Amino acid sequence: MEASFTFEIKSQIQRARAGIFHTPHGDLLTPVFAPVGTQATIKAVTPAQLEELTASLVLANTYHLYLRPGDEIIAQLGGLHSFMHWDRPILTDSGGFQVFSLADSRKIDPDGVTFKSHIDGSTHRITPEKSIAIQENLGADIIMAFDECGSPYDIEKNKTALERTCTWAERCVKAKTRSDQALFGIIQGGVYPELRQQSAEFLSRLDLPGYAIGGLSVGETKAETLSILEQVDDWLPRNKPRYLMGVGSPEDLVTGVQRGVDIFDCVLPTRLARHHAAITRTRRINIANARFISEKSPIDESCTCYACRNFSSAYLRHLVLAKEILGATLLTIHNLNTLLVLMKDIRQSILDGKFEQFAAHFIEEWEGTE
Ligand SMILES: [Zn+2]
Repeated sequence: MEASFTFEIKSQIQRARAGIFHTPHGDLLTPVFAPVGTQATIKAVTPAQLEELTASLVLANTYHLYLRPGDEIIAQLGGLHSFMHWDRPILTDSGGFQVFSLADSRKIDPDGVTFKSHIDGSTHRITPEKSIAIQENLGADIIMAFDECGSPYDIEKNKTALERTCTWAERCVKAKTRSDQALFGIIQGGVYPELRQQSAEFLSRLDLPGYAIGGLSVGETKAETLSILEQVDDWLPRNKPRYLMGVGSPEDLVTGVQRGVDIFDCVLPTRLARHHAAITRTRRINIANARFISEKSPIDESCTCYACRNFSSAYLRHLVLAKEILGATLLTIHNLNTLLVLMKDIRQSILDGKFEQFAAHFIEEWEGTE
């Protein structure tokens, strides 16, 4: 078996890469999409269903699991893999993004962040060292450096956030004790190329096993996101995986891979499923729409998921209107399948040397949201 956390690039078409990232819980075939399990569960589906969908990497949220049930409890129960019965790779975030989202109940200082729990109002403090200690208790394969995500258009705030993110990344490296976890750094800097470059170059010098591009998908335009991705691609080491945090619509996956991204995560497919929306290869549809009342065909004729193999659109519409739990489960299975199959097809097209044609065809066919 290959050493853990080495990254092999099998094929590259311009910036797009098909690779293998070796982890203690198996290989990630990249580019890869990770479903999000905020509370150590991908909402509405069982781990067995995820396995059937051939999901490989899943994400869990440090902030939520630290507050409930507590990272020490999870460690006592054998860590996240055992706790949530998932023996494939897991990634945890640093808790930073969620803590900073608690705009009114958190206070940042150069050493860390003090905040109030959204559950019971109790006061907590997370420092870079604490974030690593929590993530070591959780025991994911990929863990993230504690970072501050500035708002995209405030240059002064971004400068301060960036300074902290750099210092905090160094502190995370020093605090880390487990060798079976890969610590990724997070590039910040808003929409400012000079800050992004500074961030990418600083983190590259730390020689981490992977790099995330943070602070995107938080209010900036798509053109700005794509431009930052292209610039960051030039500043990061080529032999390490790049992770674009919180991005996962079908068109964003294709355009992200086009710009050198290897790992994605997003709540979109699972969240949409709980709001009656299905993602297909060409568009997003609302299954509650009256036009499906007696529709015999599945959500997507070309999809081979359990939901599309066995159920009509009319049945799914009935389930969601009757607020039946199975509606969310079937739509989640379908939406995850769409994204996971899309990633497999993207990977194959890179291996076959046909990614540019694939991407052009996909973008031409993509109709967007109904
Ligand atoms: Zn389907």
